[in-house]
Amino acid sequence: MSVTLKVATKKLIIRDLIADLGQRILDGGQITRDEALELINIESNADIMDLLSWANRIREHYKGNKIHLCSIVNAKAGACSENCSFCSQSAAYQTGSPRYGFVDPEPVEDAMSEAKENNVTAVGLVAAWRGLKEGPMLDEVCDRIREMKENGKSRPDASLGLIETQTVADRLKEAGLSCYGHNLESSRRFFPEHCTTHSFEDRIKTIQFLKNAGIKICSGGIIGMGENREDRIDLALEVRAIDASVVPVNILNPIPGTPLEKQEQLPPMEILKTIALFRFILPQKEIMIAGGRTVNLRDMQSMIFTAGASALMVGNYLTTLNQPVEKDLQMLKDLGLDPDWDNDFADQISNGTNCGSSCNSTKKTTEALLPV
Ligand code: SF4
Repeated sequence: MSVTLKVATKKLIIRDLIADLGQRILDGGQITRDEALELINIESNADIMDLLSWANRIREHYKGNKIHLCSIVNAKAGACSENCSFCSQSAAYQTGSPRYGFVDPEPVEDAMSEAKENNVTAVGLVAAWRGLKEGPMLDEVCDRIREMKENGKSRPDASLGLIETQTVADRLKEAGLSCYGHNLESSRRFFPEHCTTHSFEDRIKTIQFLKNAGIKICSGGIIGMGENREDRIDLALEVRAIDASVVPVNILNPIPGTPLEKQEQLPPMEILKTIALFRFILPQKEIMIAGGRTVNLRDMQSMIFTAGASALMVGNYLTTLNQPVEKDLQMLKDLGLDPDWDNDFADQISNGTNCGSSCNSTKKTTEALLPV
């Protein structure tokens, strides 16, 4: 066979593979780890565009034109005991990031009002500390959640680190919490490369306590930390195994003073391809593009929806700036997308049990999720 013919045949095979897998997902099926690896190793821009177009079709099929918006309130900043190498709030690094104690009711009320004005579905209370234990701080956290629930202008979410007992998770549920953010951050293999003060397994255990309490899970990770493509696929498969309802995809914004300050940024097409793979692996979930989108994607930000994203973090991030909410809302309007999201995850059906035979990391996680 001539070289030209071989190249043409390979292109056709890749295009057919994308279409076959895309159609399988539209028909309610799942993609295996080996198939996902095949797709994430696509290199040509023309093929990546094909992949994005199928991811867009899958998003529209399962999500219509609805987009779930979230915002966050930094409820306690800086001086964190953990050493996550991407984070400016760790006490281990000199970053000049602000430090303050637990938030008063007023800034939370302001965030709820702003969320209501901008059609933002959820406001997350986010604290920079290792985790939440029983005691006076848990009482204060529960007070804030109760106030947010009573305020009613947006859904009260929280991201408060590790949880080590069922009682803590149950108290949060009683206070009115419906969704908890706890990223797995990266694959099980890569996790010790960016954090040594707690483990991937600690994060899985936290998620199990929350699920036992009947709290929905918001869990994804950060790409661009030096992990490889296989790690990104394994992260998506782990997220599929824990059945998270919202899946944040953050893109590293290297912060001066952190160990990752000189980390080379991922090319935008690689980021979009990864988002598309998350949509292929998690077809019914709210895939939310969060930190790092403005700095990494620049003019290509609107393509995240073509790549399959169905949710967006708006407003400023914990320690870095985002583009103004008005600009994001205009972007959605221009794309014919609707932020008026009120389905309460009713369109998500658990799909964590029908993985292909090569989906080893999912099996490992499922074992880890046995009652603790
Ligand atoms: S990511 Fe969270 S746990 Fe890790 S250092 Fe930052 S604030 Fe602490």
